[in-house]
Amino acid sequence: MIRFEDLLEKVRAYSPDADVELLRRAYVFSAFEHRGQVRHSGEPYLIHPLAVADFLADMRLDVVAIAAGLLHDVVEDTLTTIERIEELFGPEVAHVVQGVTKISAIRFSSSEERQAENFRKMLLAMVDDIRVILVKLADRLHNMRTLTHLPDEKRMAIAQETLDIYAPIAGRLGMSKVKNELEELSFRYLEPASYEALRIKVEAKRRASEGQIETLKATIEAKLAEASIPVLQVDGRIKRLWSIHLKLRKQRIEIEQVYDFIALRVITTSVKDCYAALGIIHQTWSPVPGRIKDFIAMPRPNGYQSLHTSVISDVGAPFEVQIRTLEMHRMAEEGVAAHWKYKEGRVGDHKDERYFQWMRRLLENSQEVRDPQEFIENLKVELYPEEVYAFTPRGQVKALPRGATSVDFAYSIHTDVGHQCVGARVNGKMVPLRARLKNGDIVEIITQAGHKPSRDWLNFVVSSHARYKIKHFIRLEERTRAIDLGRKVFEKELRRYEVSQKGLLEGEAFEKALADNGVKTAVDLMALVGYGTLSAKQLLGKLVPGDRLKEKAPEGAVASVLRRAFGSGDEKIKVRGSDDVLVFRARCCNPIRGEKIVGYITRGKGVSVHSATCPNVINLLYDPERKIDVEWEKATTADASAPYTVKLTMDVEDRKGVIAAVSAKIADINTNIKNMEARTAADDHRARIDVTIEIADLTHLEKVIKSLKSVNGVLDVERTGRAS
Ligand code: MN
Repeated sequence: MIRFEDLLEKVRAYSPDADVELLRRAYVFSAFEHRGQVRHSGEPYLIHPLAVADFLADMRLDVVAIAAGLLHDVVEDTLTTIERIEELFGPEVAHVVQGVTKISAIRFSSSEERQAENFRKMLLAMVDDIRVILVKLADRLHNMRTLTHLPDEKRMAIAQETLDIYAPIAGRLGMSKVKNELEELSFRYLEPASYEALRIKVEAKRRASEGQIETLKATIEAKLAEASIPVLQVDGRIKRLWSIHLKLRKQRIEIEQVYDFIALRVITTSVKDCYAALGIIHQTWSPVPGRIKDFIAMPRPNGYQSLHTSVISDVGAPFEVQIRTLEMHRMAEEGVAAHWKYKEGRVGDHKDERYFQWMRRLLENSQEVRDPQEFIENLKVELYPEEVYAFTPRGQVKALPRGATSVDFAYSIHTDVGHQCVGARVNGKMVPLRARLKNGDIVEIITQAGHKPSRDWLNFVVSSHARYKIKHFIRLEERTRAIDLGRKVFEKELRRYEVSQKGLLEGEAFEKALADNGVKTAVDLMALVGYGTLSAKQLLGKLVPGDRLKEKAPEGAVASVLRRAFGSGDEKIKVRGSDDVLVFRARCCNPIRGEKIVGYITRGKGVSVHSATCPNVINLLYDPERKIDVEWEKATTADASAPYTVKLTMDVEDRKGVIAAVSAKIADINTNIKNMEARTAADDHRARIDVTIEIADLTHLEKVIKSLKSVNGVLDVERTGRAS
C-alpha cells in the first residue's frame, strides 16, 4: 500500500517548491469523505485515490492534477458538492474533479468500432484541460489492476470499455505504456481462456529464446561499440500477448507459425546516431524488405518517433529492432505526460507554440499542418472539436459537424434515409428539418418512400457527406432530365432537316463526335445537348455531311421543344439581349413584377429567375458562370390580371372585428383573397393571420401592405410564404 508521506516525497523530488499543503489538505479531506467505504477487495476505499495520485506523481504532474487525483471520486461517491471542492481547493482543482466526474458518468455500451470512435471523440470533446484525461486514465489503470475483485458482469463491462475507449485514448495521447497495460489487462479479463493458453505458449517460447535475445543484444552492443556509436541502452523483449493475439486473429494463423516474437530496442543519443545504428544493424543482418519504417522523419500523429526495421537472425528467424533517442523513448512511453513539465503551466497558457501544435495533432485525426498562429487562436475550438454528438433512438452516437441539422443526421444513418427524410422528432418533439442539433439530442428521422431531397437543403446542411449526397442526387436527376430533353431536341432537329436517325449514331463521324466532345456514348451526347453545351444543330452537322442538311421546318427547334417539355415559361421576364430563352420564376421565392431579380442558367431547364433576396441565390452565387441578367418586360394590359400569389402574415390584437376589418381592407383595394387563416397565441392577447392574396406587381403588393398596416389593431405585416 502506498503511504501518503511517500507520495509527498515523490512530488518533492521533481518539484521542490510544490504546494504540499494543498496535497495534504486534499488527502485529509478525501480520507474523511470516504471514511467507512470499502473497495470490492475489502480494503479501505482511500487506497484507490491514493494509488491514482501516486500514478500521477509518477507522470510528474503538477499539484493541481495530483490533488484532483486524491479527490476524483469524492463528488461521485460522497455527499460533497463540486462547490465545496472549489471553496476548499480552488477553481482549478474543482474544474479537473468536475471533468473527471462528468466523463465517468458516461456509460459506453457497444463494441462496434465506429461507435467506439465516436465515444472517444465525445470524451475528448468534453475535456478542456488535459489533466482531466490523465486523472481519468490513472483512475482506470488502478481499477483495471484491481478488477479481479469485481463481480463477473461488471468486470467484463469495464474491461470491454477499457479496450474500446480508454486504451485507444491513451494511444492517441502517445502514452503507450499505459495503453499497453490497459490492453493486456482487458485481454486477460475478457478472454481468460485464450489469454491463459497464449500466455503459457509464449512463456515457453520466451524461455527458449532467452539465450537468443541475450546473444542478439550482445552482438548489437559490440557492433555499435565497434562503430563508435554511443548506446545508452539495448533492451530485448517478447512482444505483448495482446499484440500477438491480434496478429494471430488477423492473419488466421497458429502460434506455431509466428516467428517474430522478439523485439529489440536500441536507445542512443542523437538522431544521427539512430540512422548510423540502423546502418550497422542492416550490415549485420539482412533486413526484411518493406519493413523499414522511418517515424523520425515522419512522426506518427500522436508524436511517436522511432526507426523500425525487421531483420533475419543468423538462425533464420526474423526479429524487430526499434532505434530511438532517449527523448523519443520517453515520448513513446509517456506521450502527453512526457510533455508535461512542472510549472510550465497548463493548457491554455499559450506559451509554448510547439507544445500546442503537438496537442492539436493529438486531438485531431488529420495530419495536415496549418499556420501555428491560427492554431493558437483556435485553441479553444480545437480542444472542443467542432462536432456535435447526437443519438439515434436506439442509442447509437453520431458525430456531426457543429451546426448539423436533422438532415445531416439522416444522411449519417443512410443515404436513403437522407433522401427520403420528411421530418424529425428531437427528444420526442417535432422540429423543422433545418433546426440545429445539440449535444445529447435523441433524433428520430421520419421518412416517406419516394421522397426526394430538395435543393433548398443545401442552404442549411453542414456535413460534407450530406452536401455531397444531395448534390449528387440533384445532379443525377438533372442528367436524366437533360438526356430526355436532349433526345427530344435532337429528334426535332432531325425532322427539321428530314434526316433519318438510322445509322447516324454509329460509324466514323459518330466516333469523331464522341471524341471531339470528350464523351463515350450516344447518351452522353444527348445529355450535352440537353444541358445546352452542345447544340443539336452542331451535333447534326458533325454527323451528317453539310450539303445533305437542308432546313425544312423554320421554327426555332430548341425553344419549341423546351416549351413543350416544360410549359410555356414566363413571358413577363426576358433575358437581357436574348428573346428565345425559356424563363421561369423560381418556386422557392416566387418573385413578383417589380422586384429585383437575378437569373440562373439551369442544367436543362432554361433560366430560373429568383428574387435577389432569395436565400438560394446566395448558394447559386458559388457558380457565377451560370448567372445571367434578366429583366421584367414592360407591363401590358394582360398583366392587370394579378398573376402572383403572395402570402402575408400579420400580428394583430386578439379582439373582435380585427379579421373583418382586415378582409374588408383587402377587398377595398381590389385584391383577391385566396386563403385566410387566423390563430390566437395563448399568451399576451395577440393573434396571427395568414392571408394569401393575388397581386399584380410589387407596387400593388406594397400598397396592400401599407393599407393593412393602417388597420386599427394590426401590429405588423410581413410577406412570408413565398411558394406560389
Ligand atoms: Mn476512481
